[in-house]
Amino acid sequence: MQMMKLLGLLVMGLGLSCCRPAEEGAVGESGKPLVVTTATMVTDLVRVIGGERIELRGLMGPGVDPHNYQPRIGDSGLLDDADAVFYCGLHLEGKLQDSLEKLAQRREHVHAVTDGIPKEKLLAPQEDFEGHYDPHVWGDPALWVDTVDLVVKGLSALDPDGAEEFATRGTAYKEALRELRSWADARVAEVPEEKRVLVTSHDAFFYFGKGFGFDVRGLQGVSTVSAGGLRDRAELVSYIKGRGLRTIFAETSVDPKAIAAVAGEAGVTVSKEHLFSDAMGEPGDVVEFGGEQYDRGTYLGMIKHNVNAIVEGLK
Ligand code: ZN
Repeated sequence: MQMMKLLGLLVMGLGLSCCRPAEEGAVGESGKPLVVTTATMVTDLVRVIGGERIELRGLMGPGVDPHNYQPRIGDSGLLDDADAVFYCGLHLEGKLQDSLEKLAQRREHVHAVTDGIPKEKLLAPQEDFEGHYDPHVWGDPALWVDTVDLVVKGLSALDPDGAEEFATRGTAYKEALRELRSWADARVAEVPEEKRVLVTSHDAFFYFGKGFGFDVRGLQGVSTVSAGGLRDRAELVSYIKGRGLRTIFAETSVDPKAIAAVAGEAGVTVSKEHLFSDAMGEPGDVVEFGGEQYDRGTYLGMIKHNVNAIVEGLK
């Protein structure tokens, strides 16, 4: 637990200085290597490992849906200027995937962090995602652990003098992620097995479900991109009723209207605690629950929030 607290302080302490929108401040003014990231979970991971040795710019802010993210003016310039780029991969960044892959072909130091996860641990989505794996791997901290070494290695190649520092932080963070997983296991155990049914806005929770023994249903498929991908609402309503659910969940990066309509039809409640599916909260959004404080603008805090919200909503 000590390690977790220590790391929590580190994470919270750095939280406010990172993740500035790309248009703020002059890029490169720090003289440190410029590292550009995409989704907030990836930004947080690279921030934890890179610490003060790098200048970090995350393209996507809190609450931004990476499937639907439209590159902004300045993004391609930032990617071109970057000394290193880390992205999630597995087609999470739907509209950026091609340019990121092309960048990786012609440049060094461009990495998809999910390349660190063995393929046999990846899930095929319930319905076709153009032949791709389900990208929502961060749903289970036991899988997210596998991305850490890749970041340590990538940053060390960029900044060999920092290699030892990155490795030390990587080891500490892997330990923190394993502790997070154990903590989550203990919390989830409070929900009787027959009540472990998670209904959310889109298919972002299958890794979570597999890891923690939940049946998972999403109103939309694995990507939020096609609005036409809304599944048969009546079928979901009858599933909710059939499973005797009382609470279903909205997500912070998806418009809650559709899931609220489902809840209305099924006569159940949408939890007032929206889940962080594809984006973390605002950095510095520290909340207290069960005598413990955590920052929902970090990966550790995001998972704690989700687990607490799900357990309290379903138990
Ligand atoms: Zn998603």
